[in-house]
Amino acid sequence: MIDPDDEEMACAHEDCECDVSSTSAIERDDEFYCSRGCADGHGCDHAGCDCAA
Ligand SMILES: [Zn+2]
Ligand SMILES: [Zn+2]
Ligand SMILES: [Zn+2]
Repeated sequence: MIDPDDEEMACAHEDCECDVSSTSAIERDDEFYCSRGCADGHGCDHAGCDCAA
């Protein structure tokens, strides 16, 4: 099922390639992040993403 309110967007963290949905994203300062790590500027540990390196 498709929820019309569930929008996919790119994580706002620099160099992060994760997509996040508006319903599950971490929101901080009007930006959306895939994880708390990205919101804190450290980067995430999701598979296939090396933004934390
Ligand atoms: Zn990432
Ligand atoms: Zn991210
Ligand atoms: Zn991520």
